[in-house]
Amino acid sequence: MRFDTRAVHEGEEPDFAKSGDVVMPIHLSSTFARKDVAKPTAGYEYSRTGNPTRDALERKLASLEGAKHALAFSSGLAAETTLALALLNKGDHIVAFDDLYGGTRRLFDKVLSRFGISVSYVDARDIARVAGAMRPETRMVWLETPTNPLLRLCDIRAIAGIARKRGALTVVDNTFASPFFQQPLALGADIALHSTTKYINGHSDSVGGCVMLNDARVHEKLRFHQNAVGAILSPFDSFLVARGAKTLALRMRKHEENALAIARFLEGHRKVRAVHYPGLSSHPQHALAKRQMSGFSGMLSFELSGLKEAKAFLSKVRVFALAESLGGVESLIEHPALMTHASVPESERKKLGISVGLVRISAGIEHADDLLADLERALR
Ligand SMILES: *Cc1c(COP(=O)(O)O)cnc(C)c1O
Repeated sequence: MRFDTRAVHEGEEPDFAKSGDVVMPIHLSSTFARKDVAKPTAGYEYSRTGNPTRDALERKLASLEGAKHALAFSSGLAAETTLALALLNKGDHIVAFDDLYGGTRRLFDKVLSRFGISVSYVDARDIARVAGAMRPETRMVWLETPTNPLLRLCDIRAIAGIARKRGALTVVDNTFASPFFQQPLALGADIALHSTTKYINGHSDSVGGCVMLNDARVHEKLRFHQNAVGAILSPFDSFLVARGAKTLALRMRKHEENALAIARFLEGHRKVRAVHYPGLSSHPQHALAKRQMSGFSGMLSFELSGLKEAKAFLSKVRVFALAESLGGVESLIEHPALMTHASVPESERKKLGISVGLVRISAGIEHADDLLADLERALR
């Protein structure tokens, strides 16, 4: 079945023996009764270990990435932490794209480093740099594509090939593209990861994360560690994410349509110095985006001439909410240097190219006319 159909139906099979609910019910029970002291009767014991609503969501999530297995976590970072705890040991090394989500960098630099895990950051747009950073103790290659906030891409297929030859797993944080526009596992990655807080839930009302993968042995390890550390998504959030995911295809098409309209408008505006959106033919990696993604998603960033101009512009927008996060139905706008990337040292921001005039947009699903009019007025 096609993506749109699976997003609606997977994990929502009616339980005809009981009620025939068309929607998976929210199973709030923290524990499950059994008839035989030696084994659980219906397969469930305790809700951290397994919960029917979370299981149903995981079936839907696996299906979205065309994966055999999925696990739902209490946040994107809980998913990342559990991956590291399950798959890495003291002395192991990660090669990571340097333009990473700030929270991921904080986890690597401030937490994993304390447990003897080291990270080399490379500009993964250049495959040779990834190959050059691999060491005998490299166990994981960590990619994000497109990246935040500069919308840079890396070649998943080529890099996963390099990692596999060296015995390292490739993890792709697929949050920005969503499974609707990019399928890392089909391109050779071992693990796809999402902050479901963003596009998959899509309504800015739940914090969660997930991983999808095909390898049964790695899946078992992750499941064991998820239960051992307790990094699970609640039944209510599992319901919200499943409900949001049903409209993922509809929303992503609209997010993309609006992002492209905004990118084209900004590209033609005299006060805008540069626009970063993989869907523009001016994007340096537009060809890779067309090859690797089935669409360009709803995130873009652009440069005004300086801090003063960016602040003045941001104080004038009305339809866009000035807020961190992304991927919800409402359009959001933010200033990476002062907001999402404020914790990245200034020297590092300079090196990456995150200027004080940079503004990031998460295009929502409102009517494009209203979004363009808001930007037009705020730029005046
Ligand atoms: C938000 C985000 C995360 C972290 O997810 P949380 O749900 O906030 O823990 C990781 N990666 C990317 C790309 C994100 O945007």
